[in-house]
Amino acid sequence: MSSINTACPTSPRLTVSIVGGGIGGVALAVALSRDAGLDVQVFEAAAQFSEIGAGVSFGPNAVRAISLLGLEAPYRRIADASPAPFEDVWFEWRRGSDDGYLTATLAPGCGQSSVHRADFLDAIVAHLPEGIAHFGKRCVEVTQDGDSATARFDDGTSFRADILIGFDGIKSAVREHVLPPVQHGEIAPFWSGTYAYRGMIPTQQLEAALEARGGDRRLALVPQMYLGRDRHILTFPVKQSQLINMVAFITDRSTPHPELPAGEEWVQAVSQAEMLSVFEGWGAASQAILGCIAEPTRWALHELPELPRYHRDRVLIVGDAAHALVPHQGAGAGQALEDAYVLASLLTDEACDRGNADRVLGAFEAARHARTCKVQRTSHEAGDVYEFAAAGIGDDEARLIENLETRFDWLWNHDPHSDVQAARQVLNWAPVPPHRSA
Ligand SMILES: Cc1cc2nc3c(=O)[nH]c(=O)nc-3n(C[C@H](O)[C@H](O)[C@H](O)COP(=O)(O)OP(=O)(O)OC[C@H]3O[C@@H](n4cnc5c(N)ncnc54)[C@H](O)[C@@H]3O)c2cc1C
Repeated sequence: MSSINTACPTSPRLTVSIVGGGIGGVALAVALSRDAGLDVQVFEAAAQFSEIGAGVSFGPNAVRAISLLGLEAPYRRIADASPAPFEDVWFEWRRGSDDGYLTATLAPGCGQSSVHRADFLDAIVAHLPEGIAHFGKRCVEVTQDGDSATARFDDGTSFRADILIGFDGIKSAVREHVLPPVQHGEIAPFWSGTYAYRGMIPTQQLEAALEARGGDRRLALVPQMYLGRDRHILTFPVKQSQLINMVAFITDRSTPHPELPAGEEWVQAVSQAEMLSVFEGWGAASQAILGCIAEPTRWALHELPELPRYHRDRVLIVGDAAHALVPHQGAGAGQALEDAYVLASLLTDEACDRGNADRVLGAFEAARHARTCKVQRTSHEAGDVYEFAAAGIGDDEARLIENLETRFDWLWNHDPHSDVQAARQVLNWAPVPPHRSA
C-alpha cells in the first residue's frame, strides 16, 4: 500500500507542494520558503537538481522578476553581459548569406543578460532550505478533494498538501488533472517544425576561427543573429565570456502541421556534417561558428497550444507545464520566473490561507493567462520573422529592421508586479506598493 505523507500539521497557514524542480520550481520554492507561515515541499523526478550545459538568455522583464524574487545578487555573480561599448545590445542582426549588418535590438540597462543554465540553477538551489527537496519523485497522478490536493509518485508514495503547483515542464503530468481529456480532449506538445542544433564554443577558438575566415573577432562576444530563409543562427557569451552559446535553427514550413517522424527522440546527437549541410552557402561567420561545433545535438522544438485554463480548484500549472513555447524571443524561462514571482507574492500574503487558496490560484490565472498566451504566440511569430516567413515582412530588409527594433518592447517593458496588483484586484485585496520583494 502506498504511504501518504502529509505536510507538517503545525503549519500555521498553508501547505504547498511543488511538482518539478527546474528553474521555475526552485525559484518559487526559494521565495515561498522565506515565509514561516508556509510549509513548502518540492518533488523532482530526477535524482538531483540538474540542468543542461547550455546558455539561457533573459530579457529585462526576466531580470526584473529575478530581482523581485530576491535572487539578483546570485544572478549578477554569474551573469554575462554584452561587452563595452555594446552593453545595451540584445542582439545584432545580420544576413546569414554574407554577414551584412541589418540592425541591433537594444535593451537599455540590460543588453544580453545570460547565464549558463546549470550555474544558474546551482546558484538558486543554494538558497533553498535543507530538507524540502525530494528526489526520484516522478509524479504520475494528481487527485484532490475539497480540502487538499495529492500527488502520487512512481515509487508508490504520495503527498498531500493544501495546494499543488505543477512546475513540471512541457511534458507535465499535472496538466492532465487540470485539463481532463474527457472535457478538453488530449492536450499534447506539438513539434513546431523547427530543429535546433546546439553547441558551446570556447571564445578564443571562435575568435580565431572568425579571423581565419577574414571575419571580425568582435562577432564572437557581441551577441549575433544571422538570418536566412527557413534558417537562422544565434550566438551569445556565457560562463564569464569563456564560452559562446550557439543555436542554429532550421524550419520545415512545407506543411501547416509538420510531424516528427514516428519514434524520433526530441534530442539527438548528430554529425557536424549534417549541420554544415543545412547551412551550405552561408557566409564566413556562420561557417566559422558551425566549424567549431564538432559534436552538435539536435533538438526538435516543441510547444503547447494556448491552454484554456491553468487552474483547477487547488491545483495550478505554471511555467512550461502551462505555456511551453519556442525559444525565439528568449522568453520561456523568463515567463516561468514571472509566474514564480507573481504566485509567491500572492501566496505569501497573510490574507492567503487554506480557506481561500483555490481562489488565489484562480486570481493568478486571471492575471497571467493573456500575457503568457501572447508570449507563446509572438515567440512562434518571431521565428517566422527571423526566417523571412512572416506575412507582410518576408525578406524585405526595411520591414525586418523595423520589426526587430520594436517587437520586444511590450514583452520587456512589463512589470510583473502589475500582475500581482491585477490578481489582488480580482481577490478584492488592497493594492500593495510596487516592488515589494516576494
Ligand atoms: C533550445 C532552447 C533554448 C531556450 N532558450 C531560452 C532562453 O534563452 N531564454 C528563456 O527564457 N528560455 C529559453 N528556453 C525555454 C526555457 O528553457 C524553458 O521555458 C524553461 O526551462 C521552463 O522552466 P520550467 O521550470 O517551467 O520547466 P523545466 O525547466 O522544464 O523544469 C521542469 C522540471 O520538472 C521535472 N519534472 C518533469 N516531469 C516531472 C514529474 N512528472 N514529476 C516530477 N518532476 C518532473 C523535470 O525533471 C524538471 O526538473 C529555451 C528552450 C529551448 C528548448
